[in-house]
Amino acid sequence: MSLKRSLPLVLILFFVGIVVFLRQPDNGGHRARSALIMGTVVDVRVYGEDEKRLEKALDEAFAEMSRVEQIFSNHIASSEISQLSAATEPLVLSLETVALLKRGQQIALQSSGAFDMTLGAVKKLWNIENNRSRIPTAEELADALEGTGSGALVIDGTEVRKARAGIMVDLGGIAKGYAVDQAVRKLREYGVRSATVNAGGDIRLLGDKNGQPWRIGIQHPRQQDALLLTLKVKDQAVVSSGDYERFFEFNGVRYHHIFDPASGRPARQCQSVTVVADDAASADALATAAFVLGPVDGLKLLEDLPGLKGLLSLLMAVC
Ligand code: ADP
Ligand code: MG
Repeated sequence: MSLKRSLPLVLILFFVGIVVFLRQPDNGGHRARSALIMGTVVDVRVYGEDEKRLEKALDEAFAEMSRVEQIFSNHIASSEISQLSAATEPLVLSLETVALLKRGQQIALQSSGAFDMTLGAVKKLWNIENNRSRIPTAEELADALEGTGSGALVIDGTEVRKARAGIMVDLGGIAKGYAVDQAVRKLREYGVRSATVNAGGDIRLLGDKNGQPWRIGIQHPRQQDALLLTLKVKDQAVVSSGDYERFFEFNGVRYHHIFDPASGRPARQCQSVTVVADDAASADALATAAFVLGPVDGLKLLEDLPGLKGLLSLLMAVC
């Protein structure tokens, strides 16, 4: 276990657990709401005295997350990302989409390609989220991987060009975190000072809870009712990537939804990674990247990131 104040992310747990819930009792002065967004139950809790204001803030936060889903979902045919995946010609996209693609590209670069937003065709082949999963052939995977990785998306101003028409873009490793950040931005805008936003394990905390940090339970990835530890966090994001939420098993082997871009197959070194960072989009993408890289290179990725502060990095177990 090491504590490094000069480093970026507050915590990384390999092989250990996913953030499951916020452990505070909810007593008085709060409003809570849940909805299904991006295929995930999103739970928002806002704290304060002015209940009308809290309700308004919730309305705005959920509207914002739905707006973000409309842009980035690859289940919505009209989304910019679906259009980009279908495109055979360069496409002019919104500034917001270009900005998120660029953030993803930066993390792709930092993670030596472990974070890869061009694995849409690989994801489609495995079909892990649809209950009709199957193991693709090596040939199918090779086809789906063709042209992916660095250089697959060329961004020039707001114009985005794919290196190969068949490349499909997938922001599943970053968009949920981004939606959470946007929700928090809205809550702030509407005067909320204390809130939690939890999109299926992508959590961001706004402020604190009555002067105390939020307490967040980390669940064991293989024991449903076991908590590994409880984190105390305020004003930051806590995001997990794991192999036990979306997966199928065949002949005793677990196939899950986080792919190693080198093979197009599920990354094998970790069971889960939790990253704490200032914003949820970065934490989301970095958790996915570190999951692929495994304990040694993943931890190095987090430690090497420049310009970030307050890292407590914790290697809980060997993957
Ligand atoms: P979750 O969505 O369960 O929170 P992640 O944040 O790790 O987990 O995102 C996993 C999703 O990211 C996959 O469903 C897929 O859409 C996408 N993905 C899979 N492998 C990669 C990868 N190597 N780089 C970037 N995105 C990926
Ligand atoms: Mg992620």
